[in-house]
Amino acid sequence: MQPIPTYAGYIFDLDGTIYLGDQILPGAVDLIAHLRHSGRKVAFLSNNPTKTRAQYAEKLTRMGIPTRIEEVINTSYVMVEWLKANAPGASVYPVSEQPLIDELTAAGFPISERAGEIQYVIASFDRTFTYRKLQIAFDAMRAGAQLVATNPDRFCPVPGGGEPDAAAIIAAIEACTNTRCSVNVGKPSPIMARTVSTLLNLPPNRCLMVGDRLHTDIAMGAEAGMDTLLVLTGDSRRSDLATAPYQPTYIAEDLRIL
Ligand SMILES: [Mg+2]
Repeated sequence: MQPIPTYAGYIFDLDGTIYLGDQILPGAVDLIAHLRHSGRKVAFLSNNPTKTRAQYAEKLTRMGIPTRIEEVINTSYVMVEWLKANAPGASVYPVSEQPLIDELTAAGFPISERAGEIQYVIASFDRTFTYRKLQIAFDAMRAGAQLVATNPDRFCPVPGGGEPDAAAIIAAIEACTNTRCSVNVGKPSPIMARTVSTLLNLPPNRCLMVGDRLHTDIAMGAEAGMDTLLVLTGDSRRSDLATAPYQPTYIAEDLRIL
């Protein structure tokens, strides 16, 4: 494999790349310190909308990587940014946990439970999902609302297994309304790539996207024109490369390669 050159910006997935649950992964602390010390820009990216950006920044800081809120991008943030650009002031109904509701409220989006008033139903990773929420989404969709989503993940890996993720919520709403989700802002969406590129103020070809999932991290980076590094500390294995939508530029056992 060719040696990895230096980039102006480094974008890191979190779970499976920087840490695994509450366990920091080999090389992460030293690498981020070294990159910052040499003037490189760093951003952290997560598809998980169930924590706020502040919570991610706190977790990283606690693990030895001092992080500012502005260096973290997750899908509740990207969804709010997308709505601001494409549907300012729209009335929304998030099928989600509290952090997304808080971000929407803070950005001034009215939250409604009334069909006919709701312009966007936002499907998300929601461990508080109920039949009542599905009913509200169903009624709103039949009254003409659009379905959008924070992230396309089928499940979220947790120690010892996984939790059903946003794909299950999207599917439930699609199934009963015979509609399709029109926008999904999470990785591998170019919406997420554009948001991080803007945050770093760098063109995609000067960034390296680092992640553990071929179908989200690597696909997003490659599609956006970034070089990519697949680390084998999380979800994807070497054997998955044959069926991957995009091949990574580099592959390594862990972050110590950088
Ligand atoms: Mg990951």
